[in-house]
Amino acid sequence: MATSPLREIWEKLCSYKEITILTHKSPDGDAIGSVLAISTALERIGITTRLYNRHDVPMVYRFLPGWEKIEVVDELNPSELSPCIVVLDASDFGRVSLFKKASEEKTVVLIDHHQPRESFGDLAFIDTSSASTGELVLKLLEENRVEITPDIALCLYTAVFTDTGGFRYPNTSSDALYAGYKLASYGADPTLVASQVYSNYPGNRHKLLGMALNTLGWSEDGLVAWMEVTLEMFKATGTKAEDTEDFVDFPRSIKGVEVALFFREREVGGVKVSLRSKSWMDVASVASLFGGGGHKNAAGCEIDSTLTEAKEMIKAEVFKAIQGRRN
Ligand code: AMP
Ligand code: MN
Ligand code: MN
Repeated sequence: MATSPLREIWEKLCSYKEITILTHKSPDGDAIGSVLAISTALERIGITTRLYNRHDVPMVYRFLPGWEKIEVVDELNPSELSPCIVVLDASDFGRVSLFKKASEEKTVVLIDHHQPRESFGDLAFIDTSSASTGELVLKLLEENRVEITPDIALCLYTAVFTDTGGFRYPNTSSDALYAGYKLASYGADPTLVASQVYSNYPGNRHKLLGMALNTLGWSEDGLVAWMEVTLEMFKATGTKAEDTEDFVDFPRSIKGVEVALFFREREVGGVKVSLRSKSWMDVASVASLFGGGGHKNAAGCEIDSTLTEAKEMIKAEVFKAIQGRRN
């Protein structure tokens, strides 16, 4: 009988003494939770894990056990990478942004719920129908009868919880809920996660939100709503990019809105755009026009332009897509 891909992946991982675990830059709850869960599971069987990211772990996820093991680096040389590299929740080198391409001698294992944009990984477990990478890590551990400790469960529950917007977004499938159920049974505390993620903000984040809400706008037909944050607002409130996590939920939560857009001026220049849809609009295809990506109902991209230009370009494409559906 052929071995299942999850068995093959785990067996491969178990053959190494040291593994580097990476995810995408500007890591979210799914990224951090998945990295820490798999790291803990591997460390428990004596495998050393090295965790790196281009960006700091956002404050909101610093309740997750082991978060401080994630080292912030600008780049990794091939010599700094373990013989085996696990990449989670990111399927292209640009999103990981720490190394260009693994050399021939490195084994790259990919676990993700995004459609890979390039050939990536020697071994891969990809399920684009999954709401989160955390659910795929849970499958990997369960299929290989790895003990899921309360710490691992907490990390994976946070992954599923955040990528489904607290079990509210359209990707909240019965599978996602079932994963939540199982992780709570393994010892994750749903109330702790909900309060850490959604009721633990620094006050100045709300000051920033107030300024951002002042920029709220919507299209005449009410189908598209948008909001923005400028560098000046960050300065005035003493906040940073991570404080805008979930701001896109505000335009999204307006009655009748199908597409929500959130624009953020970036310190390094250009604009970060978050796109969300409630049902039929495929925002990933709009994001991909600008080199970004994501899922049908949640996508993002970075545009090298002024805020005004980015807003114009993105809105034009969104309106075009809406018009296309009408025709
Ligand atoms: P965000 O708006 O940053 O929360 O991103 C929403 C989703 O879009 C993420 O979970 C990713 O799946 C995807 N995404 C965001 N930015 C990018 C990007 N630059 N390239 C590819 N996918 C992205
Ligand atoms: Mn992610
Ligand atoms: Mn994810």
